[in-house]
Amino acid sequence: MLRVGILAFHGDVSEHLRASKGAAEKLKRKIIVSEVRTRSDLNGLDALIIPGGESTTLQKLCEREGMFPAMKKIKNIFGTCAGAILLAKKVRNKATNQRTIELMNIEVERNAYGRQNESFEKEIGTTLGKMVATFIRAPHINNVGKGVTVLAKDGGEILACEQRVGDKYYLALSFHPELTTTKFHEYFLNQVASAR
Ligand code: GLN
Repeated sequence: MLRVGILAFHGDVSEHLRASKGAAEKLKRKIIVSEVRTRSDLNGLDALIIPGGESTTLQKLCEREGMFPAMKKIKNIFGTCAGAILLAKKVRNKATNQRTIELMNIEVERNAYGRQNESFEKEIGTTLGKMVATFIRAPHINNVGKGVTVLAKDGGEILACEQRVGDKYYLALSFHPELTTTKFHEYFLNQVASAR
């Protein structure tokens, strides 16, 4: 049984819940999915999903709850859009006092695809196959450093990447897979299970 938490302050929480359960069903794997809003909600999790939303809001609420140190100890984290920003060690176009958990060796640029009303959907190729990707005021993943593997690109843009750091595993996507596919959730659950 895998215990997967979804950071549930705002953003695509119910969509990630549904995609995680759908992925587990397809894999015939038993998972318990829970919503995470406090530090104690992080206890005993095998994995955490950080949804898209607004990275500065997620940061403030995580810091209010004193969650960053405990999040650093979670073995597997999957961050989408704002979640990917929270995983990045370097952020361009930062808001004042913006901080992240600084777990992945990647540089992201917030809002690099333009404004909210310039959001779009597009079919993309990934190492998991083709899928429709939804970009909502998405960041660019500008650079990936040592130890990071790219899983999807579109033209020159990196859209998905992963990194193992010791016994930890991180997966970051600039788009919102939970809206269109369970493929990345299946991939993440397989990584979580194989690390146990
Ligand atoms: N622009 C948002 C941020 O900087 C991310 C948008 C999203 O997660 N869809 O946090």
